This record gives sequence, C-alpha cells and structure tokens, in this order.
Amino acid sequence: MLSRAARSTLYAALVLTAASAGAAVPTAAVPPVDTLCSQLAERISGFNPEQCRLAGLKPSASSSEGRPLLQADVPAAQAGIKSPRRVLVLGGIHGDEFSAVVVAFQWMERLRGDRFQRFQWRFLPCANPDGALADKAHRTNAHGVDLNRNFPTPDWTTKAVSYWKNKTRSDPRRFPGKQAASEPETRWLISQIESYKPDAIISIHAPLNVLDFDGPYTPPPKLGYLRLAPIGTYPGSLGGYGGMFLRLPVITPELPTATHTPSAEQSGRILSDLIEWLNKSLPAKG
Ligand SMILES: [Zn+2]
Repeated sequence: MLSRAARSTLYAALVLTAASAGAAVPTAAVPPVDTLCSQLAERISGFNPEQCRLAGLKPSASSSEGRPLLQADVPAAQAGIKSPRRVLVLGGIHGDEFSAVVVAFQWMERLRGDRFQRFQWRFLPCANPDGALADKAHRTNAHGVDLNRNFPTPDWTTKAVSYWKNKTRSDPRRFPGKQAASEPETRWLISQIESYKPDAIISIHAPLNVLDFDGPYTPPPKLGYLRLAPIGTYPGSLGGYGGMFLRLPVITPELPTATHTPSAEQSGRILSDLIEWLNKSLPAKG
C-alpha cells in the first residue's frame, strides 16, 4: 500500500497533468437549481421536482455544458455527537441511470425525517447532468467520457486506454478520456472527496442488481434486496480511486433497472441496511 505522502504526491502529479491540459472548470452562467429540477422531472419518470426544489441543493461547480453540479448536506440528527462520521453519496455518475438519481433524492428526504441518524451526509445526487439531459440520455458526459473510468488511479496512465481498447473493444460508452481527471465533473468529484474528507463513499448505479464493494472493512452481505457480489475495479473507476488508492470504503448499490425506480419503501430498506452497516463499521469518533 502507498504511504499517505506518496499518495498525495501522486495525486498532485496526476491532477497537475490534467490541469496543464487546459481543462479548466467553466464558469459560464449557470441555470438556477429550480430549472434543473424541472428538466430532470421532464426527463425522469418518478422524479419529484418539489422534492428536488426543497432538497437544499447548491451549485458548487458546473458541468462541461455549464449545468450546475449540485450538492446538499444532511447533518447528523442525534444530539451529542461531537464529530459525526461523514458519508458522501453520488447519484447518476452515469447519465442514463435515472433510478440512481431518484434514489439519492428519496434518501435525502428520508434522512431529513430521521431524528436518530448519527452521520453527516453530503449528496451529489446528479453527478452527470449533461449525460442525463442530453437529447438522448447517455452514460458518458458531454465529451463522451465515462466519468467512472476517468479518476486518477495509479494505473490510469499505463492501463486505462489499453484496457478500453482491448477489453471493451473501444466501447464508446466506456471511453476513459484522453487523460486522468480530464473532465470538469471528475475534477469536481475529486475536489469534493478532498475537501469533505468522507469516511465512506456510496455511489448509486444501475442496472446490475447487485451490491458492489471496494476498499477496507468487511462489506455488508446485502443492502435491502441487493446481495453482495463484488465486481472488482477498473482503471480510472471510483472503486479503484476511492477504495483501493485512498483506502476508503466505496459501496456501490447497483439497482436492478436504470429506468424503473425502486419504491420509497424498497430504497428505504437499502438505506436502513446501509446505516446499520455504517453504525457497526464506522462508530462515531470522540
Ligand atoms: Zn453505472
């Protein structure tokens, strides 16, 4: 395993390389949150625009096409926890996995009504808005990059493009980008991890109908109806970056379908099993 100092040096080198490619985060006019909520409601069956508008979302960067990249915090509800553990939840890093976005919003609402939950949560519920809102929704971002293959894992430079060419036969849905962290959305996600310093990362996907897990700790055997079946990591994946490189638990619920959202009760069971695992694996500090 790399030491923390070695990881920092490698990380800085990788991000500097990306920055020198001239891929700055655009700062053009950003449409308001309400507009994005309405657009998502038009696109995604079962998406509740009011739930979106009331979720306390704030734009913290903008996408390749200038859409807001949104975040919302849900604080620990139970009093007396000095430094609650932090959980970062991503929805929709693949733009055509609509159910993942809806579940992120369902969880936010549920957590806000839970007077006993002991964790501090940050939600990035629609991590690839350009992919979700393209004329025809797609997995990649607006530049045709699979964001979940664009993270600066240590093996990115040597393996990401050759893996894509040889193992996926240059599948355009899985293009890792021309270099690590080349995309504004990826750099935003990395900066969120760097600044928020989560103790665990949850990234909601579809449609494999399993529970994937990377990184330290004993994984949960199931979350709701999703059974543990580790998929492994890929060059540039979040599981490789967060789980294997940063040594954070990365939990990936893969919902059964991309378009049909679980009921609030089903997604609530996934969340309550997740909270049970977090309570057991990451007890509050101090
Ligand atoms: Zn996915």
